[in-house]
Amino acid sequence: MKPSAPPQTYRVKSFGCQMNVYDGERMGELLAERGIMPAPEGEDADLVILNTCHIREKAAEKVYSDIGRLVFAGKQAGKQPLIAVAGCVAQAEGEEIMQRAPAVSIVVGPQAYHRLPEMLDKAVRGKRATDTDMPAIAKFDALPARAKRGPSAFLTVQEGCDKFCTYCVVPYTRGAEISRPFSHLVAEAHKLVEAGAKEIMLLGQNVNAWAGEDDKGRRTGLGGLIRTLAQIDGLARIRYTTSHPNDMDDDLIAAHGEVEKLMPYLHLPVQAGSDRILKAMNRQHTAESYLRVIQRFRAVRPDIALSGDFIVGFPGETEGEFEDTLSIVDEVRYAACFSFKYSPRPGTPAASMDGQIAPQVMDERLKRLQARLAHHQYAFNQSSIGKRCEVLVERIGRHPGQWLGKSPWLQSVHFQGDHAIGDLVEVTLAEAGPNSLKGLVRNGATLLA
Ligand code: SF4
Repeated sequence: MKPSAPPQTYRVKSFGCQMNVYDGERMGELLAERGIMPAPEGEDADLVILNTCHIREKAAEKVYSDIGRLVFAGKQAGKQPLIAVAGCVAQAEGEEIMQRAPAVSIVVGPQAYHRLPEMLDKAVRGKRATDTDMPAIAKFDALPARAKRGPSAFLTVQEGCDKFCTYCVVPYTRGAEISRPFSHLVAEAHKLVEAGAKEIMLLGQNVNAWAGEDDKGRRTGLGGLIRTLAQIDGLARIRYTTSHPNDMDDDLIAAHGEVEKLMPYLHLPVQAGSDRILKAMNRQHTAESYLRVIQRFRAVRPDIALSGDFIVGFPGETEGEFEDTLSIVDEVRYAACFSFKYSPRPGTPAASMDGQIAPQVMDERLKRLQARLAHHQYAFNQSSIGKRCEVLVERIGRHPGQWLGKSPWLQSVHFQGDHAIGDLVEVTLAEAGPNSLKGLVRNGATLLA
């Protein structure tokens, strides 16, 4: 590889989950410390980071075609960018990427990106750099102070997973469960609020497995952390994702009834409604134990909005077992959901299971599931009509004077008025569509429509 000029600009393309979005932001902050700034919209960047997701279908192939596109665009422009591959595909297939894609200068795993600046120095000298170590907490200690962001900020509190669901690569790409220390999280949350965040979304692959010692040396779980963060002046809202049903403890559930800043929304994946499929997935819970957890949340917070993840067409899934999934959807009446067709991930136990389901069967099941989920989401939005609530303004809408924000139940709400991004605006929810609601804001005696 030829030496190149140090990059002045970068672009991070993050795929997949919110944890990748968080990692992408943190990589940007590291680069900004070096004076490397985001490339202006529409301009080519000197450094492109593909922050990959292994959950994407044909994830590795997509990385190679993204790299191919960058190389082609570089040839057209007469200037090749430095290319870095980060994220879970880098972790799982780093060596192969280095062999198959000579245009890639850097391969960095999700636990090692704090070393990106040194790797970049090496790449500028014409040497390729790979780092897929998993030093856990060391990464967070090495990252710079948080940069100014929008009104809602991510804060990773936990990484990795020990659950080993048979379809999932996360335990292999992100490693074992680790919890960041309490004091570090409280300090980072303060910095985010000082930088303008009104809402913090606590992130983790198994966020509710977070555990640590509070400032008095007492063992505490996510509920305790949330109670402490809720005391930060200027912080209005706390959310967290993604949880596992088996890691829900009494204190976290109780916090939903007691902590006003904790929003009435819970993302709790179940994946399937059949106990036989749940066992084959190694989810380590049954449909009934999942429903019991939901009931406990509803007992302390009756208006809580629920969302989940579903996989259709897991190996061996029969029509009757798929219908069990539809039944659980009807029982919970989710306010939002994410649903996918099963697709085998190399190296996972489910990839070599018998009974792989035909694509057309999966397509048909996914369609039926999504119709049912859409029905419940619309019904939930309809049931919100007439409620008064605060909406956190996130951006300007498409129409003159229109603003967009999120309700406490994470619904998109649009409304009129004289506001600013980051305002908490009291609205009355007046009309509901399948994906968003219209809010009315009181202006003296009039409601702005
Ligand atoms: S709980 Fe299961 S699906 Fe979630 S990250 Fe862990 S192994 Fe993957």
